[in-house]
Amino acid sequence: MTETVAPATAAQPGGTVPTFLNLIDGEWRPSVTGRTFRSTNPADTRDVIGEFQASDAADAAAAIRAAETAYPGWRATPAPKRGEVLYRFAALLVEHKERLAQAMTREMGKVLAEARGDVQEGIDIAFLMAGEGRRMFGDTVPSELPDKWAMSIREPLGVAGIITPWNFPIAIPCWKMMPALVSGNTVVFKPASDAPHCATLLVKLMAEAGFPPGTVNLVTGSGEEAGMPIVASPDVSVISFTGNGATGRAIAVEAARRFKRLSLELGGKNGIVVMDDADPDLAAEGILWSAFGTTGQRCTACSRVIAHRAVVEPLLERLARGVAGLRLGNGLDPATDVGPLVNAGALDKAAGYVEVGRGEGELVIGGAPATDRPGLEHGHFFAPTIFRDVMPLARIAQEEIFGPVLAVITVDGYEEAAMVLNQTRYGLSSSIYTRDVNLAFRAMRDFGTGIVYVNAGTIGAETHLPFGGTKQTGNGHREAGHAALDTFTEWKAIYVDYSGRLQRAQIDNQPGPG
Ligand code: NDP
Repeated sequence: MTETVAPATAAQPGGTVPTFLNLIDGEWRPSVTGRTFRSTNPADTRDVIGEFQASDAADAAAAIRAAETAYPGWRATPAPKRGEVLYRFAALLVEHKERLAQAMTREMGKVLAEARGDVQEGIDIAFLMAGEGRRMFGDTVPSELPDKWAMSIREPLGVAGIITPWNFPIAIPCWKMMPALVSGNTVVFKPASDAPHCATLLVKLMAEAGFPPGTVNLVTGSGEEAGMPIVASPDVSVISFTGNGATGRAIAVEAARRFKRLSLELGGKNGIVVMDDADPDLAAEGILWSAFGTTGQRCTACSRVIAHRAVVEPLLERLARGVAGLRLGNGLDPATDVGPLVNAGALDKAAGYVEVGRGEGELVIGGAPATDRPGLEHGHFFAPTIFRDVMPLARIAQEEIFGPVLAVITVDGYEEAAMVLNQTRYGLSSSIYTRDVNLAFRAMRDFGTGIVYVNAGTIGAETHLPFGGTKQTGNGHREAGHAALDTFTEWKAIYVDYSGRLQRAQIDNQPGPG
């Protein structure tokens, strides 16, 4: 028997499976479909976290209506006051950080230390955006005419549709919802079906923080049934989406029909260049962390190493040794280094690419599911895998695997390394290990990605800098930093003429003296 509970109730492993509801207009409501879907623990699929509402277009429409109704009141609330609600929410995230991190590890598998980092990113962006309530800078500039005032201000857009993946189930929704809300938009949030519990806990805290009813609405359910109606709705002004490229393309096509504002954060094939003068221990440590942290399921994960021929052997030897020492297991166990993949589909995808890789390079280590190991039988575990001697255009060096599979490519110098690094359809993150300051600066200039690291791996973005990528990683928008406000606001230019007479710009302004 299932029990319908408010989301504050923790789901107990092995106990009754609780049912969680949508949040619409400040009320926890079941879907009109009467259907639910399950979220399970990827480290042990016998552990069922809960039943969640399998919503459809009617639920999405109700959430959009609630957000539309709440919009005029929230828009009229002074931005510093909106910011105070974000401060309260950030404080609640701090208070509940451990509980959220544990729920995250249980639901999507990343190890607890990384889950804490994920919540911390949510806290950081909430505090940063709370401060925007008192900044939200525009320009005040001199007019070309006397006795005339000229300035620009940011205005909200209306209802924001937020569609997110499961791999950063607290951080990414916060990265999107905090700038949307502080700038006066209201929100309809459709989280990934692999992480609906995290989304529910998050939204519960948002309601507690004091976001007025209808300001933040949660609708769980599949992308097609619950997500696409949000994208297609004429009453949703802006969509912020993070996920894979195929979904992003379908959303972009639909959004274009209505000339809708759209921010896309899509895939990556991030590379680390290791030059012949690099510290091999430091480089190996950074590569292991970037390639196998979150089991390779970060959009910024390193999946290509581009190593100078002079260092490739010592580097590979260190990488293989490092991988051999990684312990797979349930992320709640402090001894675990690498958790499971998120679901059975991800496991099949990694296994499929390893088969492709066998024809494209030499397998150094790993290369198989790890579900035959004691204690891992009920989870989606895959052994961290390295291929060497991979050609730059090989499929495993070009296609996003989103798993613990690393391709090592050998090059003979900086020019070749930079060319190989840029030889991909993606452009999210990149890195160079070198002790040559001139090379470091050339890399900062030459690497065609939205994020570049020097002597660090490809992961570890901080929330006060712009986050996003070039080429097919996105469509030119950035999250985080003050750049995030550009997605959720419209510029308004304002002129005040206090001359008391008709002044005609470009016509009455005469050439200046001299
Ligand atoms: P998906 O694109 O499958 O899913 C992302 C979200 O979109 C989910 O909420 C999903 O719902 C929803 N969705 C799916 N189909 C549709 C549809 N037709 N219309 C509307 N919404 C839809 O992404 P993945 O789960 O594959 O996530 C991993 C991807 O995300 C990787 O490619 C990764 O690189 C990328 N990513 C990019 C980041 C960046 O900032 N660049 C950061 C993190 C991840 P449901 O779950 O119900 O299918």
